[in-house]
Amino acid sequence: MNVTQAEFVISAVGPAQYPEEGLPEIALAGRSNVGKSSLINKMIQRKNLARTSSQPGKTQTLNFYKINGELYFVDLPGYGYAKVSRTQREQWGKFIEQYLLQRDRLRLLLLLVDARHPPTRDDVSMYDWLTHFSIPVCVVATKADKIPRSQWQKHVKQVKETLFMRGSDPLVLFSSETGLGKDELWAIIQQHTEV
Ligand code: GDP
Repeated sequence: MNVTQAEFVISAVGPAQYPEEGLPEIALAGRSNVGKSSLINKMIQRKNLARTSSQPGKTQTLNFYKINGELYFVDLPGYGYAKVSRTQREQWGKFIEQYLLQRDRLRLLLLLVDARHPPTRDDVSMYDWLTHFSIPVCVVATKADKIPRSQWQKHVKQVKETLFMRGSDPLVLFSSETGLGKDELWAIIQQHTEV
């Protein structure tokens, strides 16, 4: 996909602020620091439209980015940040749950996990929850440039096994440094956003 236009539209704190043109939406979820902002910036060829590492775990908003006037990336707040209170964590759950379960134009959720390590308990819960509610998911294993190429397959296998991934869900090995996986991920996104 050749991104010619990308704009930050809104940081929404509730459904009343979600954009209303009816464009398809691709949501992104993952632990804080997994590389979500970096992935968005890489995908849309901007250095810093999505802010990287501002305040991990503190952003309790849904950030909507409009791409080529065709679709939205919806950046969900990062989960699993140790320093947020339990109340905040529960709030996180409700907020996201509402979006994920009620937004009919949500076409695909990109679940980001760190390729270097086995997915965490939070990652596993998130994947289970998504599959339970039949939300289409693509797992993206980030920071692949930090793993030698000879080890890639081993790490991919580790991610798949730890999440008990269904064979039908795609997994993309990604690097925001090198652009590995970018075209593959765009192809998957386009499959899900075409009418
Ligand atoms: P977020 O909290 O999920 O939005 O994570 P960020 O995008 O802010 O990234 C967290 C840190 O990981 C930053 O220091 C990034 O530079 C780094 N990072 C993110 N993606 C990659 C990647 O693909 N490769 C490498 N080497 N570092 C990355």
